[in-house]
Amino acid sequence: MVKICLDPGHGGTDSGALLGKRYEKDDVLRLALAVKPLLEAQGVGVVMTRTDDKAVPSISERCQMANMAGCVYYLSIHRDAAGPAAHGISLWVHSRANGPTVRKAQYILDELLAVTPTQDRGVQKGTPQNYENFGVNVYTTMASALLELGFITNADDNDRFDRYFDDYAEAIARGLCKAVEVTYTRRTSPQRPRRKRR
Ligand SMILES: [Zn+2]
Repeated sequence: MVKICLDPGHGGTDSGALLGKRYEKDDVLRLALAVKPLLEAQGVGVVMTRTDDKAVPSISERCQMANMAGCVYYLSIHRDAAGPAAHGISLWVHSRANGPTVRKAQYILDELLAVTPTQDRGVQKGTPQNYENFGVNVYTTMASALLELGFITNADDNDRFDRYFDDYAEAIARGLCKAVEVTYTRRTSPQRPRRKRR
């Protein structure tokens, strides 16, 4: 069985970025938990680095979990932070990521950008800060990326995150399936209309 590692960033005393009482660690955990069953429905195994706010492994421990489990892809899920105007979606890969790793991240980005219009911040290498790479892209032995799904510091991005939560979860699942070459078959759910757009 093909296995993917989902890594909801931060947790515990590390809230990640925040806006008032809205914490990145909560947004990303909720989202990862929504992606998990969608992948499992496609026959993809899912390793979660954390499923609650209590057991919070270090970055290297998270990567070790994926390495030990033989995951073929690792996605760390985050939300960005900057001034109130900054918005959009980006994925970060290792500064020396090869073509296939960049392409896999692009699949996820393309699916997310198809949900509703926002700024395409691209698949980028390294980090936006002054260090070379995110730990999740260093300590993993498989293809990996760090997703920044909108800015928690931007009201419109938070609105998109909440409004299109289910669609974003499905977009991530679709992109991941494409990355690991699993055909994504959508479940028929009469309860929820397809991709409601404003
Ligand atoms: Zn983060």
